[in-house]
Amino acid sequence: MTTTMPDTYEARLERTLPEVRDRIARAAEVAGRSASSVRLVAVTKSHPIEAVEAALSAGLTDLGENRVEELEAKVATLGRGAATWHMIGHLQSRKASRLVKIADVIHSVDSFRLAERISRAATEDGQRVTVLAQVNTTGEVTKGGFGVESASDDIQRMAELPGLFVNGLMTMAPFVDDEAVLGAAFGALRRLSERLTTATDRVGHELSMGMTNDLEIAIREGSTMVRIGTALFGDRAGGAL
Ligand SMILES: *Cc1c(COP(=O)(O)O)cnc(C)c1O
Repeated sequence: MTTTMPDTYEARLERTLPEVRDRIARAAEVAGRSASSVRLVAVTKSHPIEAVEAALSAGLTDLGENRVEELEAKVATLGRGAATWHMIGHLQSRKASRLVKIADVIHSVDSFRLAERISRAATEDGQRVTVLAQVNTTGEVTKGGFGVESASDDIQRMAELPGLFVNGLMTMAPFVDDEAVLGAAFGALRRLSERLTTATDRVGHELSMGMTNDLEIAIREGSTMVRIGTALFGDRAGGAL
């Protein structure tokens, strides 16, 4: 690669956003779905405020962050109402009360205990917080989330907690290229969602799955929210996840 002046985030998005929208549209078409049934969450984590400003100017309204501190800083600069703020990263229980004040959707509720902490914080703040239950669809021990076996019971219990609206499920696929493995993980989340939404109307139908490398497979398997960072904003400094 030749070295050139680094892109501004505006210039980069002018190029990358149509590409990402096109990938989403084509995947939706293949799946016989409308492109508007898939929400694009632009993952700005580890990128500076300029990336967030460029995203907003480009018309992206759903923004994803994975650290409470970074989300707080960006919300403080741009305003609570500037975007729909998505928390997508692992959350420490003790930060729940700070998070419920600034997040519109918490994707990463990965244990019943964390759900209880968010419920308490939301109730104390007089709020109802929209959350997704994170499910470990691959059984990898290093991954967080409800285990597929017990998820149905746990998530139904979670949906009874005050101050929470469980609007659906979220998963992270394994870091592999094998389409069969990815499809199996996303398919497992979809089937769990079908079981849950049949059993109770307290759980919503959202499926947050699909990132830069696997969004097509996720959409084929029913994703309603893809979380895209790298394809929009480029590599993160230090390759941070
Ligand atoms: C970083 C991150 C993403 C975005 O991943 P890309 O591969 O950069 O698109 C999506 N979801 C979660 C939970 C993440 O932490």
